[in-house]
Amino acid sequence: MKNMEEYSLFDDVSKVVDHAASHMDIHPGLLDQIKQCNSVYKFNFPLRNGDGTYQVIEGFRVQHSHHKLPVKGGIRFSSFVNEEEVKGLAALMTYKCALVNIPYGGAKGGVTIDPTKYNTDQLEKITRRYTSELIKKKFIGPAIDVPAPDYGTGSREMAWIVDTFEAFNPDAINAKGCVTGKPLSQHGIEGRTEATGMGVFIGIREAVSIKEDMDALGLTVGLAGKKIIVQGLGNVGYYSAKFLEEAGAKIIGIAEYNGGIWNEEGIDIEDIKRYQVANKGFKGYSKGTFMEDTMSLLTYPCDILIPAALENQITLENANQIQAKIIGEAANGPVTQDADVILLEKGIMIIPDMYLNAGGVTVSYFEWLKNLSRVSFGKLEKRYDMKKYDLLLESIEKATGDTFSESQKEIIVRGASERDLVNSGLEETMVTAYHHMNGVRKEKQIKDLRTAGFIVALERIAISYMDLGIFP
Ligand code: GLU
Repeated sequence: MKNMEEYSLFDDVSKVVDHAASHMDIHPGLLDQIKQCNSVYKFNFPLRNGDGTYQVIEGFRVQHSHHKLPVKGGIRFSSFVNEEEVKGLAALMTYKCALVNIPYGGAKGGVTIDPTKYNTDQLEKITRRYTSELIKKKFIGPAIDVPAPDYGTGSREMAWIVDTFEAFNPDAINAKGCVTGKPLSQHGIEGRTEATGMGVFIGIREAVSIKEDMDALGLTVGLAGKKIIVQGLGNVGYYSAKFLEEAGAKIIGIAEYNGGIWNEEGIDIEDIKRYQVANKGFKGYSKGTFMEDTMSLLTYPCDILIPAALENQITLENANQIQAKIIGEAANGPVTQDADVILLEKGIMIIPDMYLNAGGVTVSYFEWLKNLSRVSFGKLEKRYDMKKYDLLLESIEKATGDTFSESQKEIIVRGASERDLVNSGLEETMVTAYHHMNGVRKEKQIKDLRTAGFIVALERIAISYMDLGIFP
């Protein structure tokens, strides 16, 4: 993976915002307000090691925009975490939520550690202490700021966060809504783990379904047979690849930080994931060619390249060599602003991060709603719907003399489960947002989806401020 030093994700995001604003009629004062981070909290705390030595751990939480509350965004554990990165990621969350119409301002948190270098006890201590630092300054709470998993964290860390928050707020009835991405047993929601990958899949499926756009790229319509390279086989990369493979696409390359794997005939995702977990990498995997130089895999010929790891991966250094026709940004900020210009000149279509990885925060929103209402989706209406559909089928059978098969009955009568409803809400959100963004691109005769996405987002945020009467 690329080095993050001297690169500012926040500056990159601000440049794109300025570019999008140049296509709009927006008050410069309002634009300045939208771009800035409203609150930046940086703190240090000690971690005592088993041998009596201490380490000082650095943590951040940035709330980019308070135009809607609570603010929302993940917590990242990575040695690359720094203030500029967290600010940039927080800003991206604001635009992401606005684009897919989820009612949150953007935020992000981070701890500058390599989580693979710490044992579970240490990670628990760090997570709980990080949470109490947020509680001290009121930087967390179901109505204030709601973290979620991000690179290097998952449901386990979210469980520690909610447990710590509840210990400090025993009388808060909505305490469970202080964080999303929790395990199911801790009031999480069905489908949150795979949500970002599912969203990536739906977003790419929509993009390749439009004949006019595919003709321009020299590609056929649909996912069947599309050759895909994925960077990162973590949660997002794995689920994206799995759903795309199930829809008929071929995953021909996977790049990981410790080596890549290549097979023109297609890589079986379940099989390689099992191998990766057991062997901590792809080295020795017999059904493909192992590649030490993992970054070079990004420049191999393919239809779709999906960077699903970290930001700053496609830069001035490698942009010219990219041979993919479509780049699906599953990670946040994987293509730098300078690289973006080159890729567009080459005629590559970029499905931007702020849209493509919005599935995670979308399902987080459903989880938060579930926590606030204190009832799981489908619980009240499921049986009622089943009885209604049963009666309906019976009367159709009577009226027509035909009978439905048992399997047909099962599909029709089965009431919607929590997972069905989550998937339906996710699909609706991703499909609507794609066509809105692409429509704006065409209407304003803009080359790229990113600028169009930022225009949609900026318009929504600007309206919030203007309706408050703060700006003209
Ligand atoms: N960390 C994810 C993101 O970057 C999810 C955020 C959330 O669910 O709040 O979108």
